Amino acid sequence: MAKYIFVTGGVVSSLGKGIVAASIGVLLKSRGLKVTMQKFDPYINVDPGLMSPLQHGEVFVTKDGAETDLDLGHYERFIDENLTKYSSVSSGRVYKAVIDNERQGRYMGKTVQVIPHITDEIKRLLKKAAANTKADVVIVEVGGTVGDIESLPFLEAIRQARREFGEENTFYIHATLVPYLKAAGELKTKPTQHSVKELKSLGIQPDMLVLRSEEPIEQENIDKISLFTDINPEAIFQSYDVPIIYEIILNLKKQKIDELILNHFKIENTKEANLSRWEGLIKQIKETKDKVKVAIVGKYVSLHDAYISVIESLKHAGWAENKLIELVWVDSEKTTKEQIQNKLKDVDGILIPGGFGQRGIDGKIWALEYGRISKIPTLGICFGMQLAAIEFAKNVLGLKQVCSDEFEKCYNDNNIIRKNYNNRFKLGEYVTYFKEDSKIREVYDQSQTRERHRHRYEFNHKYIDRFEQNGMMITGYNRQIKAVDVLELVDHPWYIHVQYHPEYISRPLKPHPLFRGFIKACVKNQK
Ligand code: GLN
Repeated sequence: MAKYIFVTGGVVSSLGKGIVAASIGVLLKSRGLKVTMQKFDPYINVDPGLMSPLQHGEVFVTKDGAETDLDLGHYERFIDENLTKYSSVSSGRVYKAVIDNERQGRYMGKTVQVIPHITDEIKRLLKKAAANTKADVVIVEVGGTVGDIESLPFLEAIRQARREFGEENTFYIHATLVPYLKAAGELKTKPTQHSVKELKSLGIQPDMLVLRSEEPIEQENIDKISLFTDINPEAIFQSYDVPIIYEIILNLKKQKIDELILNHFKIENTKEANLSRWEGLIKQIKETKDKVKVAIVGKYVSLHDAYISVIESLKHAGWAENKLIELVWVDSEKTTKEQIQNKLKDVDGILIPGGFGQRGIDGKIWALEYGRISKIPTLGICFGMQLAAIEFAKNVLGLKQVCSDEFEKCYNDNNIIRKNYNNRFKLGEYVTYFKEDSKIREVYDQSQTRERHRHRYEFNHKYIDRFEQNGMMITGYNRQIKAVDVLELVDHPWYIHVQYHPEYISRPLKPHPLFRGFIKACVKNQK
């Protein structure tokens, strides 16, 4: 039987409870347990696939091809485990499953209700997350804040979980904000008291509190919270602001948070946690001073979360090369060619990330042209690669009409980017084979890679010969479904474009070779 840790949040959202949950995941994994994570999201969308990146941030794609919440990216970067389609559960998904069942007559004419039908479906997905990964411990973050109307069915389901799975197999953590009032010069514990009260009114007595604050909290305040909430001071932990988020792992370890959880679960004889690689990484980040300047050219730049995995991957690669990343955000939409090129004048590298739709493509194409002609290291991801193909065909091959099936009025066989083989959205992991003697193969130092995809369109084979004859080589290929995965320019220090999304699999302790190769090239290019 798997053990379940439920993490709820109180007082405000954006508390960083996901980071606390993931840090606990790292600690339990380092004790030798198999850990997986799951996120409950109260929104009614079935998944974030169709949500605007400007509203919701990036869509994170799992190995098995689910389009999920960006929090899963944080989880994977922390616990370094592949999550699954059961790891991201929204209200919409739960309701859809129940309504589909009802339409198929599966409830035998009964009245379908939140309790038990919705809560049963939530518990079914809890068990699936465990079974699918064979995890010893499932850490479940309940999105939103206790007291929100939307999260009530999830809270009710986790309340029932203790009845169903047993006390020894369930553990409730409530993370709350302890704000500092400048005018009064003191920390305020009352919001936490109220939030615990609210949670108790729903039938959940937390086993542990994690207090989020700007500064460390004195024992006196912990005792006060303990008195008002009926939670032992030993079960009250704190997570104050730190400059590097991965330090939270070490801070929680220092407080022995893992011990208390393992004791509750009656898990004995685990190995000692070894966090030396995390300690080494944090030390190295703190000692790094030199910077490398990378431009990200996209149309969602006003919300950096839209590119969160790309940003994190650049950082991982930077740390491995003893560099901090200085990002230059370039909005591809409201701009002229001159403005774009002026912005790119003194950057060390250019990155064109994934994207959708025709709006804002000119800016990206100008940036690609500039990177190509000025010999600046340039990395294109997914849509970035597709636009690099269009730029090359237009400006080098003189094929002015080329377009993508994704754009309006792409007629007459000019679709250099065309609908893929079965017009399906290609999602999840596929294998890419690299050509011998290619730059990409050198960068990976491997003959193939497994990477996650998220696209509907791909490179049209009819252009392969013309591209290769003019120095743009097809150096990565999916043999199984015959698709072009990598383009690279021969006569350029580093101009590599990939149809897949390397950013989904980069980890702080395992920087992705492609980002690392890109940063190396940027460093070489530094003026
Ligand atoms: N819009 C492109 C496609 O669907 C690229 C998608 C992406 O960049 N993720 O093929």
